[in-house]
Amino acid sequence: MTTLTPGQILQLIREGRCRTRKELIEHTGLSRSTITDRVDRLMEARYVRESGVAVSSGGRPPTVLEVDPSSRLLLVADLGAGHAGVALTDLTATPLAEEFTEMRIERGPEEVLAWVCEAFHRLLAETGRALTDVCGIGIDVPGSVDHAAGRVNRSFLMPGWDDHPVAEVMRRSFDVPILVENDATAMAVGEWWSSWRSVPSLLLVKVATGIGAGIVLDGRIYRGAQEAAGSIGHVRLREQDDRVCSCGSRGCVASLASGQAIARDLGADLTSRDVVRLVQMGDPAAIARTQEAGRTLGIVLATAVSLLNPGVLVLAGDMAETQEHYLTGIRETVYRRSLPYTTHGLEIATSRLGHRAGVIGGAVSVIDHVLSPTVVDARLLP
Ligand SMILES: [Zn+2]
Repeated sequence: MTTLTPGQILQLIREGRCRTRKELIEHTGLSRSTITDRVDRLMEARYVRESGVAVSSGGRPPTVLEVDPSSRLLLVADLGAGHAGVALTDLTATPLAEEFTEMRIERGPEEVLAWVCEAFHRLLAETGRALTDVCGIGIDVPGSVDHAAGRVNRSFLMPGWDDHPVAEVMRRSFDVPILVENDATAMAVGEWWSSWRSVPSLLLVKVATGIGAGIVLDGRIYRGAQEAAGSIGHVRLREQDDRVCSCGSRGCVASLASGQAIARDLGADLTSRDVVRLVQMGDPAAIARTQEAGRTLGIVLATAVSLLNPGVLVLAGDMAETQEHYLTGIRETVYRRSLPYTTHGLEIATSRLGHRAGVIGGAVSVIDHVLSPTVVDARLLP
């Protein structure tokens, strides 16, 4: 019989597989004294707390154990091409304080990350919590990242950020684990965790200034061999098109169907946010162009759906706020261009978390890391 570490016992409690000491003993086959020792250590370190009693099958009702949600906090930042959001959350990924602002990421890493650091301190001050309560930080950006190294790889939307060591820079101000993630991946995790955990696989497409996708397969993030999975924005649909994409090529789906592409067709100096405002005001040209863009992206999504067979396809980003006009376009093409058995039971829905999807997903990823057996057991070393 192999024994289990406190970190492994914590997993059983987190996953809801064991709710009481008695259930832990029955599930693991470990002795009462071993379980008592592991649980005591988890409680001393405030990973776990007692909460009420379970229904008894005879005798004294057993005490229920649960993760102590507010003993540790997380700071997360969701950075898009044209916006930034930050949140302070507890261990259930519930925001205790948050801030959102319109900010261009092309202002560069120094300026943007300085704002993030200041905003993090504002959130702590607002809630009266100490920096020592923070156990991890998550930052997501609109580009491909080296997740293990905490760096940006590259992104056409983020000039000046290529190879930027985001985690290393942030660690000068915060001495905790810092995870760097692609924004669509963070959003996919947020949506899956909050609304779709009964569905094993989810494909999220973020359409704002650019286009990117995040993939959750069998409940886990799928990053791909070079962490480039989901980079669908630069699939070239019309190689002869005269519109030049941000990547320098012609006819990419991003240059035809992104918020920026719609904005450019509707008028000079408009942005993805302006398209949302126009559609919400009922502007017929904006609505027609938005639906057309949805149909165009739907061509690429039909392939993705046929390949992955996800249970749900979620539209996020600015175009999710176009009163379903963009979504309607996607639906039309995906259903028309896919075999019925690949779309049977497929839900095509807009983001339920809205502008919070990135920060919630970022928090969930960091929580999974800081409460993982390896990290917990290392913290509990004498
Ligand atoms: Zn491109």
